[in-house]
Amino acid sequence: MTELVKNPQSATVPALVVSIEPLTAGVSKVLLAPQEPVGYQAGQYLQVFLSDSDKRPFSIASAPAADLIELQIGGNVTDAYASQALAHLREHHDAGKPVLVQVGLGDAFLRQDSSRPVILLAGGTGFSYVYSIAQQLRAAQPERPVQLFWGLRDESGLYYQDLLAGWQSDSFHVVTVLQEPKQAWAGPTGLVHEAVLAHVNTAGASLADFDIYIAGPFPMVGAVRDAFLAAGAVRAHMYADAFAWLK
Ligand SMILES: Cc1cc2nc3c(=O)[nH]c(=O)nc-3n(C[C@H](O)[C@H](O)[C@H](O)COP(=O)(O)OP(=O)(O)OC[C@H]3O[C@@H](n4cnc5c(N)ncnc54)[C@H](O)[C@@H]3O)c2cc1C
Repeated sequence: MTELVKNPQSATVPALVVSIEPLTAGVSKVLLAPQEPVGYQAGQYLQVFLSDSDKRPFSIASAPAADLIELQIGGNVTDAYASQALAHLREHHDAGKPVLVQVGLGDAFLRQDSSRPVILLAGGTGFSYVYSIAQQLRAAQPERPVQLFWGLRDESGLYYQDLLAGWQSDSFHVVTVLQEPKQAWAGPTGLVHEAVLAHVNTAGASLADFDIYIAGPFPMVGAVRDAFLAAGAVRAHMYADAFAWLK
């Protein structure tokens, strides 16, 4: 993939692969220890260099204060996008050799100069992106109202459920939306952005009042952008790195 968002503050550094653990059957958690100082903002991404010409972007799941960089890699992508990157990371982990990463990319990072309520919208492993932002909001703006919507195909994609349950509060709501649950499911079903629209309507609120951060498969981000703009969202307050690819 080509890097679309240039960022002069990004740094390309070697990083040791500390661990690779399954979060679900299809998604792995990867912890990286950069061997040189790096900075990033909540909601930015890094690129793993598979070769000089093959760099794969992954959202940084950790918040900037974390010692290690967390990635969540997997999902229902068909082009070996994730599996090739994971194989590369595994090989270097097993050999104790560092991988090369470019850290601090993207302009869909959390705007902490805003006090508007926040909608975090994730499809599948887009959760990694909103997880970073959610951690930063809890640390830096704990009173700011946040609604985190996570859409998955079915229950098999769920992880971090206990942690998210512990975050529920008057100012922090988590809603999980399953597209086609395999078992009885008390929560909303269908496409995640449609659940957001229904939720906002029911609450008598307007999307125009929110900062909206979005990550997931490209077709989802395109559908969300169009549907949310039609429903009154403000384009300048909508953030997604995929917008750069979608145009
Ligand atoms: C900058 C950048 C960062 C990336 N970061 C990561 C990363 O951290 N980890 C990673 O594995 N990959 C990453 N990718 C690759 C890719 O974007 C993800 O693999 C992809 O988002 C994974 O989606 P999924 O298969 O998990 O979602 P799916 O299982 O396909 O979908 C999850 C939910 O999204 C919604 N949805 C899906 N399709 C549509 C649609 N057409 N219309 C409306 N709603 C829809 C539904 O609610 C669905 O249940 C990144 C790509 C880029 C460019």
